[in-house]
Amino acid sequence: MKIAIVGAGIGGLSLALALHERGLACDLYETIPEVREIGVGITLLPHAMRELAELGLQLQLEAAGIENLESVFFNRFGQFIYREPRGRHAGYELPEIGIHRGKLHRVLYEAVLQRLGAQHVHLDHRCVGVEQAAGSATIHFRSSSDAPLAPVHADVVVACDGVNSAVRRQFYPHEKLAFGGINTWRGVTVHRPILSGKSYLRVGSIETGKMVIYPIADNVDGQGNQLVNWVAEIRREGAPMNDWNKPGRPQDFAEIFKDWRFDWLDVPALIEGAGNIFEYPMVDRDPVPQWTFGRVTLLGDAAHPMYPRGSNGSAQAIIDARTLAQQLATAADGPGALSAYEALRLGPTSKIVETNRTMPPDFINIKVDELSGGKPFRHIDDLISQEELRRMSEEYKRIAGFSLDPSGK
Ligand SMILES: Cc1cc2nc3c(=O)[nH]c(=O)nc-3n(C[C@H](O)[C@H](O)[C@H](O)COP(=O)(O)OP(=O)(O)OC[C@H]3O[C@@H](n4cnc5c(N)ncnc54)[C@H](O)[C@@H]3O)c2cc1C
Repeated sequence: MKIAIVGAGIGGLSLALALHERGLACDLYETIPEVREIGVGITLLPHAMRELAELGLQLQLEAAGIENLESVFFNRFGQFIYREPRGRHAGYELPEIGIHRGKLHRVLYEAVLQRLGAQHVHLDHRCVGVEQAAGSATIHFRSSSDAPLAPVHADVVVACDGVNSAVRRQFYPHEKLAFGGINTWRGVTVHRPILSGKSYLRVGSIETGKMVIYPIADNVDGQGNQLVNWVAEIRREGAPMNDWNKPGRPQDFAEIFKDWRFDWLDVPALIEGAGNIFEYPMVDRDPVPQWTFGRVTLLGDAAHPMYPRGSNGSAQAIIDARTLAQQLATAADGPGALSAYEALRLGPTSKIVETNRTMPPDFINIKVDELSGGKPFRHIDDLISQEELRRMSEEYKRIAGFSLDPSGK
């Protein structure tokens, strides 16, 4: 079976490795002419690590990132709300890791080059459309200079071309990105370790300004400082959507955080210290009823782009990859495998897309703000019990597929 993968991001590369594990060959077609380490931090939850460990990448990823000890929630006055252990510290077999997206991408990319061979990775191939006739599919490409490239024929085409997927657009031409007024700015700052130096922090709420902060590399300067990833987020009614490609400007958001100087964290200093700031919109798409169209299917962000509020975008893409590889290795024919994969993955991922909108992990921060009227509180127990907060956190894990107790108790 000739399998063509469009897009060599996290999902496409994971799929190539999962197919290779099962003895299936494939070719990857990626729009960028040269692979560079782009992006900022990304969190690999235990269910993503389970898949990556199966691909033999656990040790490399552990070495390249930081294992989270705990997840801690604060309000915008720096008051403690809730804390829970994470990954192996919470009893999972596998760690939860904060890592630079570029490093994760590099580890996957190097593994693909080594295991499949560079001849199976075709850079500077921008997919512009897919056609199907009886018995095969044809993919059309253009180069970065917009020159048409030789079309590729395949038995099966997997579109892993991300949130702005050209292949998805072909099947859903009128679909729009869903933007609910939430913009984000991301950066990395060389900084002394915050709290345990292995803490994933959510401070404040999306309604009045929120910071997500976690370390992604240790001792980057020989003086014990870490590379600390941060994301500033705010919902503003009628706000224009942030760009993907523009550098972020502190004057667009730093004002919100100007008083966030706590004895354990100085947010203005964290923002000022950033090497680069990137702006991103918080967008997703409404779940669609179908990913598979004959010999073509969608995977990862192309299939189910979700708000990046639960660290699940990469995890779900990697789980898609293993599920699809398994179906391609066992089903009688390509189209049948693609349909079986869709049947297994469309329901669970649609539920996560919805939950990331309505009750993501930082719903805890929103709820506490509601209960306190957005004011400082005397003690969190006056508002809500730790047990109730734990239940809210567990519910998200159950829906996202990484609860230690899937019965939800
Ligand atoms: C440059 C970049 C930076 C990111 N940074 C972060 C980050 O800092 N933190 C975070 O949490 N998430 C980040 N993400 C998103 C995160 O990596 C994805 O949500 C997740 O990994 C899902 O994986 P995916 O393979 O579906 O999509 P992606 O990882 O986005 O991969 C899609 C791939 O398809 C390629 N592509 C797009 N269009 C075409 C086309 N027409 N033809 C061929 N190839 C095409 C893209 O270049 C990309 O390599 C980033 C994504 C990208 C592309």
